[in-house]
Amino acid sequence: MAKIEREKIRLGVSACLLGARVRYDGGHKHAGALLRALGADVEWVPVCPEVELGLGVPRPPIVLVGSPSSLRLVEPESGRDLTGSMRRLARARVRQLARLGLDGFVLKSRSPSCGLRGVPVGARDGRRRRGRGLFAAELVRGARGLVIEEESRLADRRVRARFVARVRTAAQRRANAASAAASPERTQSAMPTPR
Ligand code: SF4
Repeated sequence: MAKIEREKIRLGVSACLLGARVRYDGGHKHAGALLRALGADVEWVPVCPEVELGLGVPRPPIVLVGSPSSLRLVEPESGRDLTGSMRRLARARVRQLARLGLDGFVLKSRSPSCGLRGVPVGARDGRRRRGRGLFAAELVRGARGLVIEEESRLADRRVRARFVARVRTAAQRRANAASAAASPERTQSAMPTPR
């Protein structure tokens, strides 16, 4: 009997989690256990917003400052404000990613660019605040319906199982849509004939 191939899951990922040396200090954050747990049938689409912004490797660290309603992304060493340029890059990149038909996205936790929640935010009043990285914020806003999770939460088996189930459903939906688009006549002939 012919083996039924499962559709590969297509996931965007913060490139440092795949082992790419793109971090500010020239290192990576290879998430070996997580990548193995997610399985071999994943097609990864790596993104490093800071490198894509042209900040280079290595580079001075950048941080979030301000209040949750008006976050700024700055390079403390030079005082450079990268908020506008990162937002523009993220918006364009999210539009481009949408055309690739991703089923989900795995983000690096605590990064001022990629962190999904709980990223430390510096404030003049010295109070500790938490926020969302600017690329992650644009991904959540621009890629509606995309299944997004961050690497630290995916260490929890139950969270991971839910994530995998949701991205598998998304991958199957994408495959069904592609096959319907490729053979519209088959779809039509399967429809009941109007009387
Ligand atoms: S967390 Fe995001 S911006 Fe930072 S190195 Fe990893 S991929 Fe690049």
